[in-house]
This record gives sequence, C-alpha cells and structure tokens, in this order.
Amino acid sequence: MKTVFVVGAGPAGMFAARKVALAGHNAVLFNRDIKPGGLAEYGIYPLKDKMKFGLRKQFAQVLALPNVYYFGNVQIGNGYDLTIADLDAMQPSAVIYTSGAQGAHSLGLPGEHSSGVYAAKDFVYHYNQLPPYSSQDFSTGRRIAIIGIGNVAIDIARWLLQDSPSRATTEEVTIIARRGPLEIKFDKKEIGYVGRHIERAALAAELERIRERCARANQDVSPQTIFATHFPMLNEEDFTSIPPRLSFRFLASPTAVIPGPDGRIAQLEVADNDLVLRPDGSTKPVPNGQKSVLDFDTLIFAIGDKHDEKLGLPMGPDGYATQTDPDHPNDPVFQVWDPAHSSPLTGRFVAGWARRASTGLVGIARHDGEVGAQKVIDYLQSQPEGNALSPDEVLAALRKKGLHPVTKADLALLGVAERQEAEKRHLNYFKYSDNPSMFQAIARARQQADKESKLQPVS
Ligand SMILES: Cc1cc2nc3c(=O)[nH]c(=O)nc-3n(C[C@H](O)[C@H](O)[C@H](O)COP(=O)(O)OP(=O)(O)OC[C@H]3O[C@@H](n4cnc5c(N)ncnc54)[C@H](O)[C@@H]3O)c2cc1C
Repeated sequence: MKTVFVVGAGPAGMFAARKVALAGHNAVLFNRDIKPGGLAEYGIYPLKDKMKFGLRKQFAQVLALPNVYYFGNVQIGNGYDLTIADLDAMQPSAVIYTSGAQGAHSLGLPGEHSSGVYAAKDFVYHYNQLPPYSSQDFSTGRRIAIIGIGNVAIDIARWLLQDSPSRATTEEVTIIARRGPLEIKFDKKEIGYVGRHIERAALAAELERIRERCARANQDVSPQTIFATHFPMLNEEDFTSIPPRLSFRFLASPTAVIPGPDGRIAQLEVADNDLVLRPDGSTKPVPNGQKSVLDFDTLIFAIGDKHDEKLGLPMGPDGYATQTDPDHPNDPVFQVWDPAHSSPLTGRFVAGWARRASTGLVGIARHDGEVGAQKVIDYLQSQPEGNALSPDEVLAALRKKGLHPVTKADLALLGVAERQEAEKRHLNYFKYSDNPSMFQAIARARQQADKESKLQPVS
C-alpha cells in the first residue's frame, strides 16, 4: 500500500481519492475549507437542492472508505498553513493537486478596486455561506452590472433578482457582453430561471441597437431570431415580465469604473464594439471609438477564474504547468511540468479545475479527477513502497504545527450537529457559515456522543 496526497476536496479531489483508495492505496485529502465539496458545496446555486444533496451523499460515501483520510481546514501554499515543501517532507508516493482555480480574472480597469466591485466566485462563495466570504461585505445596491454572459452570470442574476436577502432593493440587473447575442454562453435551462424578469420590448430595442453592427459580421440578431434561439419564454403568448428588471448590453467592453464620493462604484464607462469576422468564422470585438457612461452601484466580474499562484506549483501560460506530449497534442496531460528545469515533476499531478480553470460542470471535474487518479495509479506501479508518514503521523505533524485539522470523525459530528439544527429550525438543511461555529458544534456533538456512550448499558 502506498500513500497519495490529494490537495483539494472538491469533486475532482474527492473522486480522485476514491479511485486511488479503491486501487488499494491510502488517499490523504488536505482541504482548505472545513467541509469537503468545493464549488459543488459552495458554488452551485443554493436552491439546487437535489443536486447538492446527491453530491453530499456521494462525498460521504468516499469518506466512508477506510483508506481515505481527510484533513480539512488545512490550506497548502506559500504563506498558507503548509507549503508544498512541507508536504513533500512527509514523503508521499505521489501528490495530485485538485485545488480548483481560486483566483479570479479581472480586467485591470481604472477604479476597479472601488467598493461594490466583486469577483463572481467570491460573491457566490458569500451567498453559499463559505467562511470567510460569508461574513464579508458583499452589499449590493439598486443597479447591478454583471460582466460576462455565461451560466455563472445567470446564477448571480437569479440570486439578485429572486433570492438575495436584499432583493427588495434591486431595481435592475444588467448583463454586459463584449460580443453579440450569438456568442451567449449560458444555456436555456439557466436563463429559464430568470427569463420572466426580462422586458420583451427592452430586449428587442437592445437587439435593434446592435443589429446593423452584427449584420456586418454576417450575424442575424433580429429579435425574432434571438428570442427563438436564446429566450424562448419571450415568444410565449401569455408572457408578462415581473420586476426587478433583467437587461442586456451587448457589444460593450468596460473601460473604467467611476467611484462616487463614498468610494463605491457610481458609474461604469463602456466602449462600444464592432464585430469583426475572423476567417475561421469566429468573431472579434473591436472598439469603434464610441463610449457610454452607465449608472451602476454594484459590479460583478463573471469572466472566469484563474489559478492561485500562491499554491507554489510552476505556472504555465494557462495555469499550473503540465507536461505536453508532442505526439498527442490533444490528449490531456496531468503531470506537473517544471519549466525552469524543462522536466516533469516526478509523481506530481493536477486534475479538475486546477488543471483547466472554469471548464465544465461537476461531471467533467469528476471525470478529470478520475482520469488523473488513474495516471497516479499507473505511476505508482513502478514505485517502491516508500516511507510516507502514516495518516496518524500526518495528523500529529499538523497539530504540532499549531494547525486545527478537521478529520472524518469531526465531519461526522458536524453533520449530526447540522441535522439537529435543521430539525430545530424546520429546515431541509442547515449549515454553519463561520469556522468558530463549526468548531463549537463539533465540540458540542462530541460531548453529547460521549455522554450517550456512557449511558449505554454494558452488555
Ligand atoms: C457559480 C458556479 C455555479 C456552478 N453551478 C454548477 C451546476 O449547477 N452544476 C454543475 O454540474 N456544475 C456547476 N458548477 C461547476 C462545478 O462547481 C465545478 O465543475 C467543480 O466544482 C470543479 O471541481 P474541482 O474539484 O476541480 O474544484 P473545486 O470545486 O473548486 O474544489 C477545489 C477544492 O480545493 C480546495 N482548495 C483550494 N485551494 C486549496 C489549497 N491551497 N490547499 C488546500 N485545498 C485547497 C477548496 O477548498 C475546494 O474544496 C458551478 C461552478 C460555479 C463557479
């Protein structure tokens, strides 16, 4: 039996750990958050209960495997709890990094550090109750701009329009896209959740505004076409729109955030774009010299995530560097590559969003974790037994460093506490949204379990 460290317990890490464990090795998970699940727990829309419950059940099954070990509340990286060198010193036979893409893209705009400007992932972490984001200021106002036109932008719009505690103050959410409606990235199911907030006449007017510019790139964006392809609800005879409004601004690239006297965003300057058709049929947005200034008090960037450089893995052009295989350029490569020495990092792998940021749904991250884990298993075949610290020794080393790792046993106690709290509050599900409350709940549940075990008759 060999020991594999898995850094990150989102879908990619959990399913990688499962595969490694089922192949007969120890899988030792290190996770930044107390709870496992990553974006499946703290990104997926809070009301997608069925999906969330299903995934939590699958993660619990992974943790139930006897040779899967879990250390939550342990963040790996430079300036975090343990460095990669600290992990290596514990001599695992292999490490697979599945820590997702924890950085966020921004546009580097003047004024973008004004208050009221947020990265999408931080914002969804906040409303999904991930500490410390859960208790930070993500206040929204009356007029909110979301930059980006994918499913994440629609999730955030849904929250602002329907479920946010401050939705009563929301007047309008505007989705801003640098290209036209034919480059929409969200899918029909997602827009279906928010379609009734769109005013048909307003969207038709926006499409008319850009129609000629899109036609020059051979794109038909007449309301008739676009309603049919992307907004089918607007063609329903009995469609009526409800407040707050959801609007769109196409062919617009933000160029500056203009704060008000209180330091909060007050306006957004956007450049109007033309669309240029490339020979391969794709389009390129090109500023046409016109600019507009729009009133917003909140701005959210939903333009994808990037890798956290502090993790300490070598960086490549698109994230953590992986080895490329010139003979199979399209095959995914999971092994970490060290550009400084032009050599692979032996026994070190990446998978999931850590390998390719913001790529696909949970099923894809799971698959990537499993394929990555298979590479690890293949690699281990040629490796000696090794001298990895045992999971107990890892736990002792973490505690010796003054860390407070959360183990599988702690997670089980937290689960009991959360179920009791949900019952008390007549909720389907309850989760604590700060770390001290989670630690207190674990301690209380442990005391209760100890008391109950003492009361059991001895047979
Ligand atoms: C807003 C949003 C909504 C989504 N909605 C859906 C949906 O409805 N349906 C769907 O199928 N998919 C959805 N997805 C996609 C899905 O969440 C991802 O495909 C999947 O979670 C990626 O899995 P991962 O394991 O690669 O990364 P993540 O889920 O990001 O997991 C990374 C894990 O690594 C840990 N970690 C991070 N850094 C460190 C570190 N330095 N040290 C230790 N641990 C670390 C984190 O705590 C986390 O547990 C959504 C994504 C987003 C952003």
